[in-house]
This record gives sequence, C-alpha cells and structure tokens, in this order.
Amino acid sequence: MTEFDYDLFVIGGGSGGVRTARLAAGLGKKVAIAEEYRFGGTCVIRGCVPKKLFVYASQFSEHFEDARGFGWNVGQSTFDWPTLIANKDREIARLEGLYQRGLENAGAEIIASRAELTGPNSIRIMATGQEVTARHILIAVGGRPNPHVALPGHELCIDSNQAFHLDDLPKAIVIAGGGYIAVEFANIFHGMGVETTLIYRGQLILSRFDQDMRQGLQSAMEAKGIRILCHEVFSKIERGPDGRLLAHTSGGKALVADQVMLALGRDPYTEGLGLEAAGVETGSRGEILVDEYSRSNVESIYAVGDVTSRVELTPVAIHEAMCLVETLYRDNPSSPDHDMIATAVFSQPEIGTVGLSEEAAAKKYDELEIYRAEFRPMKATLSGRAEKTIMKIIVNAEDRKVVGVHILGHEAGEMAQLLGIALKAGCSKDDFDRTMAVHPTASEELVTMYTPSYRVKAGERV
Ligand code: NDP
Repeated sequence: MTEFDYDLFVIGGGSGGVRTARLAAGLGKKVAIAEEYRFGGTCVIRGCVPKKLFVYASQFSEHFEDARGFGWNVGQSTFDWPTLIANKDREIARLEGLYQRGLENAGAEIIASRAELTGPNSIRIMATGQEVTARHILIAVGGRPNPHVALPGHELCIDSNQAFHLDDLPKAIVIAGGGYIAVEFANIFHGMGVETTLIYRGQLILSRFDQDMRQGLQSAMEAKGIRILCHEVFSKIERGPDGRLLAHTSGGKALVADQVMLALGRDPYTEGLGLEAAGVETGSRGEILVDEYSRSNVESIYAVGDVTSRVELTPVAIHEAMCLVETLYRDNPSSPDHDMIATAVFSQPEIGTVGLSEEAAAKKYDELEIYRAEFRPMKATLSGRAEKTIMKIIVNAEDRKVVGVHILGHEAGEMAQLLGIALKAGCSKDDFDRTMAVHPTASEELVTMYTPSYRVKAGERV
C-alpha cells in the first residue's frame, strides 16, 4: 500500500493525458485519468482529425473540375452536409472508443468527470464530490478557443468547436483570424461552396510562416474566390432583421453572413481548475509554467500539451507525455525536444514546413543561400487549373547546413514529415544534392536545385 490512492492522477483525456496514463499504467503504476467530456481531446474530437476529414470533403469540388481535362465527365455533383457530419461523427466515436480501450487494456482507471485540484497531492472528482490523492498529478487539460468577449456580439459567433456541428452549411461565412484555424476553415468552407470571407488584422495571413509561403497561399486563396480583408478587425456583430448576421469591421464595412467564426487563437483551459489551491503558478495567459521536465513549481504536479502553451501541436503533446513517463517511471530524465518541429497547414494548397523561415534565419545567420523554385504542378497541365507549387530551401552559407525547408503545394504536409527527418539529422545542402531524384514527382525539385536563387547577407538580399 502506498500512502496515496494513486501513483498518478491525470486530468484531461486528450493526446498528452491519454498517452501518459496509458504508458504509466502499462508500467504497472496505479493510474486514474479524468475527462469531463470525451476521450481524445481537441485533436480527435474537435480538431485535427475531423478537420482533416472536412479538408478531404472540401477538395472534391476541385477534383470534379480537374477530372474533365483527363477525359472524365462526372456530371452534376451535389454536396450533402448532413451526410458528412454523420459519417465524421461515426469515425470520431470509433476513435474515441480506441482511446478508451487503450487505457482500459493498460489498466488505467477511467473517470468520466471533471476533476479539480484541491492541493498539491489531492483532487476532487466533481461528479461525485469525492476527494482522492495521488503521488503525482498531471494536468493535460489543453486549451479552448479564445471567445473574444470584448467584441460586441461575440455570443452570436461560432468557434472551431461549433463549426464541426452546424445543422446547416451556411451560404456565406466570415472568419476572423489569420492563423492555422482561420486559414484551414476558410479553405474548407470555400471548397464546400460557401461564400467565404477572411478578415485578418495584419498585412498577410500566417504571420509566423515564411513570407513566400504566406504570399503564395494568400494569392492562391484569393484566386480561388476567397475574399481576404487585411488590416481589418471586427468592431461589432449583430443580427439583422432577416435573421442573417451583420459583421461590422473597423474599416467601416458591413459583411452579411449566415455564420461568423472567430479563430483568434486558443487559451489554456485552466480557469477553475484549483491551481491556486495547489499553489501552481501560471503565466499571463493562464498557461501552466513548467520546467524542462514539464514539472510545475509544485513538485508533485506536472503539465504537458497545450495547457503549457509551449508548442500547441498534438505530436508535441504526445512527445512531452512520453518524455514525462521516461522521467517519472523509467529513471531516465528526459526533456522534450522542441527544435525543428515539422508542421503543416491544411489549406488548399497545403503548406509544409520545417525549420526556420528566411526571415528568422536571416536574423540568426550572417549569410544564407536561398534555393527557390516555383512551378506549375504536372497535374495542372491537363486539368488546366491555374496553380503553382513553391519550394524553398534555406541554407546557412557558413557550414551549408539546411536550416529550413518550406513548401506550398499538393501533399506539402506529407513532404514536411520526411524533410523533418533530414533536417533533424542535420543534413547539409550537399546531402540534398547527392540524393537521387524520384521522377516524375514534385518533390524531386528539392534535390535538383543546385544553384542558389539568391543570397541573404547581414539580413539583406543580394
Ligand atoms: P493562431 O495563433 O495560429 O492564430 C491566431 C490568429 O488570430 C492570428 O492570425 C492572430 O493574428 C489573430 N489574432 C489574435 N488575437 C487577435 C485579436 N485580438 N484581434 C484580431 N486578430 C487576432 O491560432 P489558431 O486559433 O488558428 O490555432 C491555435 C493553435 O492550434 C495554433 O497555433 C496551432 O499551434 C494549432 N493548430 C495546428 C494546426 C495544424 O497543425 N495544422 C491546425 C489548427 C490549429 P497575428 O498573426 O497578427 O498575431
């Protein structure tokens, strides 16, 4: 008998929490995991997975158009939103079941309830009021969309959670934000035939990405018919007499839409979690502050995933969880490695990226070689679609290490995953050059750009 009810109590059944609980229980630890909603968290229930299914659904409109150039006549096509929602819900339920079974098979106790901290080693299970104790507590409650409460009429807007469950596909939607979620949903809704407007406060969407990718994607989206209004924010949302929404902007525009979606970032979901009772320190956005081993300022309490606001990505949460299990239960202190994380924006075309943007690399290194290719993908020759692929390799001129690769085009996310291995392994441009091309592919361009397109010296293009 230990002095605690559990070796580990996990609050939050998302990617980070479930992975930690499953691995720790598999190692014979006494583990409980509490989840107030559905197992799977943001990624499975209302994020990456349903989003990707929606992306697939939205791409068919272009596939049908492109088919003509290859001799196919697909006739009249129609889209049925309720069918997509029902099929998506069935798949999400299946995945949720897998998550639960994985926990059960490993021997973790599943608690379908909200849980809140009452002290450094104690938790209250809100459904029963019972208080339990644990040697270690992991907070993995993730984040939630910023509701933007200062905006008059914000309660009339939807966020990404609700976008997955709309009763009807809107005729017109206005989406605020220029990050991953706003951009991905703008492409999704447009592909489903919705009249789509994106409103962004900056000059160019996706502020943290390479400038070429941002410019290329924004132009491609506009060319498709997505309206993008930059240097604009909402000033007020109201419902008009006809029941439709009216989104007023700072620039004096009034946009009429059936749905207005806010995608203005996500906040750590720590409110009301009992952090004060346990003495856990948080940052300015409510994120749990942790050290390199994901430990909070309270020795017994750890946190992984979006709630720590380190890097808000599913694979990162899972990696942090696996490091934590090494640290706590395998006598192998491991700190998560947040360097060179490959990522994708599932826009249409996609962005796949790993490493530094040209702008960030120019600040870090004295001289860069930039290899850049822009071309029409082969499929577009017969489909007739006006589209471009952009590929860009950023090389530190001093040692010829590849410090960033950025792709805008079909399957860019898939390519980013493989490039992530190359860059993580520290490949140089010479390694890229002596790699044989796979022909005919788009990605062969990555190993056949032999001469720099331009150089950047002391931050200036030369
Ligand atoms: P992001 O942080 O990516 O983008 C937030 C956007 O909202 C930015 O364009 C930002 O502008 C803008 N914004 C923030 N505050 C305001 C404000 N007060 N007024 C006007 N605009 C504002 O957040 P998302 O919500 O899109 O996504 C959250 C996180 O989820 C991402 O950071 C990402 O890590 C993860 N995610 C990953 C995906 C993937 O891997 N494919 C998909 C979806 C989400 P500015 O740029 O000027 O700061």
